[in-house]
Amino acid sequence: MSSQVTQLVQPAQDVPEGFASLSQGVFHASTILYPDVASFLNRGIEHAYSYGQNGTPTQHALAIKLAELEGGGETVLVPSGLAAIVLVNSSVLSAGDQVLLPRAVYGPSLEVMRVLFGKWGVQYALYDSAADLSAMIQPHTRLVWTESPASNLLEMQDVPAIVQVARQHGVMVAMDNTWATPLGFKPLDAGVDFSVQALTKYVGGHSDLLMGSVTVRNAELIHSLRQTCELLGYYVSPDECFLALRGLPTMALRLERQFASALRIAALLQNHAAIAQLNYPPLPGAVGHDLWRRDYRLGCGLLSFSFRQAGLTVVEEFVGRLKLFRLGNSWGGVHSLVAVSPMPDHMTTLADPAWLVRLHVGIENADELFNDVQQALPT
Ligand SMILES: *Cc1c(COP(=O)(O)O)cnc(C)c1O
Repeated sequence: MSSQVTQLVQPAQDVPEGFASLSQGVFHASTILYPDVASFLNRGIEHAYSYGQNGTPTQHALAIKLAELEGGGETVLVPSGLAAIVLVNSSVLSAGDQVLLPRAVYGPSLEVMRVLFGKWGVQYALYDSAADLSAMIQPHTRLVWTESPASNLLEMQDVPAIVQVARQHGVMVAMDNTWATPLGFKPLDAGVDFSVQALTKYVGGHSDLLMGSVTVRNAELIHSLRQTCELLGYYVSPDECFLALRGLPTMALRLERQFASALRIAALLQNHAAIAQLNYPPLPGAVGHDLWRRDYRLGCGLLSFSFRQAGLTVVEEFVGRLKLFRLGNSWGGVHSLVAVSPMPDHMTTLADPAWLVRLHVGIENADELFNDVQQALPT
């Protein structure tokens, strides 16, 4: 009989047999146990469980659900949306390579190229969303990033056309699909090699976790992603995966509700005398609507706009009058949010200094959200 000290150290029980529930169990592990020396020596990242960093049944359950959501393939989980971008770049790019980024790309994605990969000898070039890519691709171009609708101004890109040109030149394509989620657009079906999501946004859906995913269908790419992920030391906690799994069943409902409410608010803004430009491609008549209608099946709650009147005062007054939209960064949760940023450099047509206001429409009562925006607009 072991001493009490030794007894306390033993696991309480194995995975219980005869227990079934609708909730995903949360399994923590750094150490994985092996039944014999041969299986211990043969462990590796391709095996189901080898070390805590490669996941327990909880991380695996989330990866499998996400791959299904993407329409097939295999998913790698990382600690944030930005980490997913870094993972793709790290697994594809070497010194001397060039990567093409849309001018409207998510800001930190550009910073990663400029500050980190630049230091390691990788070059980047920016392209306009409507540019002819075949004129930009060079012999050392290895990867094209797409983001549609892109951050801030929600500029649309013709992703199938970009894929076609890249394919002709033997260049890989990665897409940051955080805005649409695979419920709105399936990058891998469009021929994109790497589908990236910030799970922080609509998969998490409650503004309380950070996580990212990369999904691919090609066996060599998944091997290279897994290896790079391990070398970078990326790891996601099973508790966070539980939260992401908790978000999935309501994701379509949330998005449908947020999309419907956002469409009403977008229509209000598009017709309002105080607004210079509304950015929301799902709205008929808005910039980018034709591409959006051709390729996308569902929108989300994120839109942006600028006031005709220059300066920060009109923005401050608008934000100050809002009651249901709270001021804060990030988006994709159930709560309505507002954020403010300087107009991106490449927007030269608007008044200077111009500010961009971003609304994230939540799942609160649709009439109350509409009325809140309406009463906050300048008269
Ligand atoms: C938020 C966001 C990211 C980064 O996600 P984090 O989890 O916050 O790092 C990447 N791309 C887009 C388009 C985003 O909106």
